[in-house]
Amino acid sequence: MVVASTAIYSFTADFRHDDFCSLLRSRAVNIAKLVLDSYEFNPNQILRSGTEYPSRLPDEKFMILNYKNDTLYLSDRYWKLKGLNNIIGQVRSNRDALSKQDDYEVVGTTHNTGIYQFVVIGAAIDKNGLLHLKKLRNILIVVCLISLILFSIAGWFYSGRALKPISDVVEKVEEISITSLHLRVPEGNGHDEIGKLAKTFNKMLERLETSFAMQKSFIANASHELRTPLTSINGQMEVLMMKDRSADEYKSALSSVLEDIKSLIDLSNRLLLIARTSAEGPSSYSVDVRIDEILWQAQEEIMKFNPGYHINILPDDSVADSDSMIVKGDEYLLKVAVSNVMENACKYSPDNSVNVSFGCRDKMIELVFEDRGIGISEEDLNKIFEPFYRGANAISFSGHGIGLSLVNQIIKNHNGTIKISSQVGKGTKVMLSLPAVS
Ligand code: ADP
Repeated sequence: MVVASTAIYSFTADFRHDDFCSLLRSRAVNIAKLVLDSYEFNPNQILRSGTEYPSRLPDEKFMILNYKNDTLYLSDRYWKLKGLNNIIGQVRSNRDALSKQDDYEVVGTTHNTGIYQFVVIGAAIDKNGLLHLKKLRNILIVVCLISLILFSIAGWFYSGRALKPISDVVEKVEEISITSLHLRVPEGNGHDEIGKLAKTFNKMLERLETSFAMQKSFIANASHELRTPLTSINGQMEVLMMKDRSADEYKSALSSVLEDIKSLIDLSNRLLLIARTSAEGPSSYSVDVRIDEILWQAQEEIMKFNPGYHINILPDDSVADSDSMIVKGDEYLLKVAVSNVMENACKYSPDNSVNVSFGCRDKMIELVFEDRGIGISEEDLNKIFEPFYRGANAISFSGHGIGLSLVNQIIKNHNGTIKISSQVGKGTKVMLSLPAVS
């Protein structure tokens, strides 16, 4: 506003000055014509001074000089023009001169009559123009001040309104801590940028809340699973210590304690593996691993500790050569995953047996583990990948409920998929697929 107002003022001032000066110049020339036409004159001689021509411009004064710079005509005998010689010099060299003395605009020009050239100087005050200019200046100052006040109020009001959603979000975010992750930030209308930001933030809070809840239940479950064998060991030891026992009694108590310790070791190993695999996330492994060999090794190890299990491994027709069974991965983790699925199938089947078939289709290696065991109910199927979740019909079997979540994590880390289909009382089919190298 200030820049625009200054520009308007200075353009108007320039225009007024030019306009008035050209008016004064043409008036000066007219006066010169009148004076020089009306009198018989000798160009060397001062003609007269006077105010016989009706005044048109406020406080106008004129002066006519001959080629010797003698004054021929002076409209106001008391008029003393400062720097007259300077002005005459300018007029003689440029034909025109402009200057300002006090409130007077002074113009100088030449006027020719035949062979004589005269210098005509006019001066007047542009009272009207200056008054208008002053009024314009005052109006612009007032308009600027009023605009400043209005813009300040409007800016304060609208910026407050525009920033309110942000300050609401900030206020709410400050309230949110680890114990109040259920709180959500206001989403406003949900359509503008701030609404979208708040929505995204709420989604992130939702994910945080879920993962905190999962972590909490994981810790609670893990401590529970660790405490059970420890309490059992503690109880057995206390009973054992109450009196002297026979060697057989000590032996049987110690073997039971040993079982509990094995279970503890197994559990802590799995917990460590879960922590490791979930920290790694989907990885890009560089080592070639042959899946068929993993299957044979897993079978051998399981059979060593569970001689009653039957694990039948059969390649299907799609296996052309052993090279087609190579994946990039971690041999140890893949063996853990395969063993878990095999052991589960045998554990949850009355005949303790599982049929494992493997093949390669569309650059994916597929492993299918089929058993005729207790099966998994539809409700349990959705949850068996959650850590520590155990099927309702599996409670009578030993286990901690973290095997499948570990398998799921390992397969995901190898960019593979796991699918389970099952019918209660009939059997379960677990399908693992992993990207083949060739
Ligand atoms: P665990 O076997 O120690 O209970 P898992 O994580 O390996 O833990 O399995 C989770 C649950 O999935 C088991 O408790 C069981 O209910 C179900 N499950 C897994 N595999 C089978 C299977 N082959 N047959 C029937 N149920 C199974």
